Amino acid sequence: MGELIGKTAVVTGGTSGIGLGVAQALGTAGARVVVNGFGTDDQIAAALKSISPDATHADADLRNPEAIATMFAGIGTVDILVNNAGIQHVARVEDFTSEKWDAVIAVNLSAAFHTTAAVLPGMQKNGWGRIINIASAHGLVGSPLKSAYVAAKHGINGLTKVTALENAEADITCNAICPGWVLTPLVQAQIDARAAENGQTNEQATKALLSEKQPSLRFTTPEDIAGAVTFLLSGSAGNMTGTTLTLDGGWTAQ
Ligand code: NAD
Repeated sequence: MGELIGKTAVVTGGTSGIGLGVAQALGTAGARVVVNGFGTDDQIAAALKSISPDATHADADLRNPEAIATMFAGIGTVDILVNNAGIQHVARVEDFTSEKWDAVIAVNLSAAFHTTAAVLPGMQKNGWGRIINIASAHGLVGSPLKSAYVAAKHGINGLTKVTALENAEADITCNAICPGWVLTPLVQAQIDARAAENGQTNEQATKALLSEKQPSLRFTTPEDIAGAVTFLLSGSAGNMTGTTLTLDGGWTAQ
């Protein structure tokens, strides 16, 4: 508690799921937290209340690089950036529309490039910064029907390495976290689709989803991811950069 007092942290997609869990941990540790992400006024107000009294929301559709630049101009110097916002779309490659491809790449990959480029000059001036990219097990292995998502997540792991290398001497680290299944709205939508397609109950579809990929047969939680973020921000991880940290119940060990 309190170890991040005086630090400004931005969490993209911090209004829901994993990002909200991470933002809550950063708020508890004393950071001034700025969350970006969609939601109704009530949802955003509830999210901010759960993070900390001084947490704020910054509006920007991450598909729009100009909106990202305007958002960071309003925030000022950022010490900690968590690139977490993400969307999913499933279809075979030959059926994947270019609009969906562009949207998945824009939110899950290009946005992280634009946000990282926006915060690096301030971090370099301060001589300290931490960038954490929420990638996925799909940044390490593929699955059918997720071409854009898998490409974006492999891409963000590459961006992580290059950002780390370019700033290795500056006490600015960049690492990626690769979760397996986490039960959030993004995954519940996939469970709902499976249940509808296969005539299964929510419980059956959930069990099928887990047993297909995740040997532990249980979900990773937003709190688990927040714990990994807290570790990456700790002194013990000060010389850890350009890595991928997997929390996937054994998914990518197979
Ligand atoms: P979620 O749907 O709960 O949250 C996604 C967040 O991204 C929301 O806050 C949403 O408003 C925001 N967002 C989406 N499009 C945006 C846009 N254009 N501009 C601004 N914000 C936008 O999803 P989640 O499961 O918490 O996912 C968070 C991250 O974790 C994603 O990058 C996802 O790929 C990754 N991930 C999730 C899982 C999982 O099983 N849930 C597994 C591995 C990786």
